[in-house]
Amino acid sequence: MILQLQERISLKPYNTFGVEVAARWFAQAHDDDEVRAAIAAAAEKGLPLMVIGGGSNLLLTRDVDALVLRMASRGVRVVSDDGERVLVEAEAGEVWDDFVRWTLAQGLGGLENLSLIPGTVGAAPMQNIGAYGVEIKDVFAGLTALDRECGELREFGLEDCAFAYRESRFKREPGRWLILRVRFTLSRVTKLHLDYGPVRQRLAEEGVTAPTPADVSRVICAIRREKLPDPVVLGNAGSFFKNPVVSAKQTEALRQRYSDLVAYPQGDGQMKLAAGWLIDKAGWKGFRDGAVGVHAQQALVLVNYGGATGAQLHALAKRIRDDIQQRFGVELEMEPNLY
Ligand code: FAD
Ligand code: NAP
Repeated sequence: MILQLQERISLKPYNTFGVEVAARWFAQAHDDDEVRAAIAAAAEKGLPLMVIGGGSNLLLTRDVDALVLRMASRGVRVVSDDGERVLVEAEAGEVWDDFVRWTLAQGLGGLENLSLIPGTVGAAPMQNIGAYGVEIKDVFAGLTALDRECGELREFGLEDCAFAYRESRFKREPGRWLILRVRFTLSRVTKLHLDYGPVRQRLAEEGVTAPTPADVSRVICAIRREKLPDPVVLGNAGSFFKNPVVSAKQTEALRQRYSDLVAYPQGDGQMKLAAGWLIDKAGWKGFRDGAVGVHAQQALVLVNYGGATGAQLHALAKRIRDDIQQRFGVELEMEPNLY
């Protein structure tokens, strides 16, 4: 296909916060050739290239003086199948949740806990997406990326990606790697992860005694729909802050002051605090200031009630971060990618 370049395009439909900013240039890549053509076009115009997927982990605070390339490549294929373990590859532009539902329809387990996460397959390794006790690193088999520094394709195995909690090598080296396709090892005989939040309890309430991956997915989708705002209705980018990891000593000191503190051991002596609990405790849950606010059901989610700018959302985030620092001595780190 021939790359279609468009000048001064609104990015409002392309970010789930629904923030109105313009891209100087905009294009969609349906295959590797269009990706290369976009890189060449950006170089020719003397502009940076900004790659996006579903725009569900972005906070855009100004017009984007770049060529914005939306990954729109499609395709899912079975690479190998030994009867039990199945290696599946998906193109970067595939919608993540469509891909998850496709795997479940094939009777393949592994991605069920990651159901209903917005965005694309290509962005999933960027922050090692995770939910309900599973991260993509747990089923990750490899990916193909374009090295934008030299234009060569590079294969990454698990060890090469430096996956960590909402982190990866790709996030730490911004602008270098353009992820083209991702591979996952899925299974017909899955070990289910049910001990997180109300998953097991909800299955029991439904009378499901021998759950399948599809059952787990259904229950998780229901919980998520109850708790999280749909970006189509209320602009948001999911959790706005990462859960902070602090020392056991600091956790203990906080627990002396707050007996209901929510903290989970990390296995290395460190403790993960629930950022949502801290924000709720500080009284921000349901807070609204004009067009921006903190969701009433989920304190970790900042929302755009309509017409908010990225700068207003960012200013609210900074107020919350400073307040949490002052009250609890805990530093919150923003999760979405800021432009
Ligand atoms: P974008 O927002 O478009 O991009 C994110 C970053 O990745 C940007 O830096 C972009 O430049 C880069 N990028 C995108 N595609 C590529 C590519 N092909 N190659 C190289 N770089 C690329 N996240 C979780 O981890 N767990 C959750 O449970 C979760 N729930 C969410 C719920 C809601 C309601 C929302 C709105 C968000 C949620 N998120 C969650 C955050 C978000 O959905 C994920 O991080 C998702 O993977 C982002 O995908 P995207 O395609 O929208 O990425
Ligand atoms: P929740 O179940 O209310 O739990 C609150 C926090 O406690 C979560 O952030 C979670 O950490 C942690 N937690 C809960 N049970 C845990 C356990 N058994 N072991 C370790 N940590 C535990 O959270 P929620 O907001 O409804 O979200 C449910 C899941 O979806 C979480 O995994 C969350 O990360 C994910 N989610 C992510 C986003 C995003 O944008 N990143 C948005 C919505 C939901 P973790 O976050 O580390 O899992």
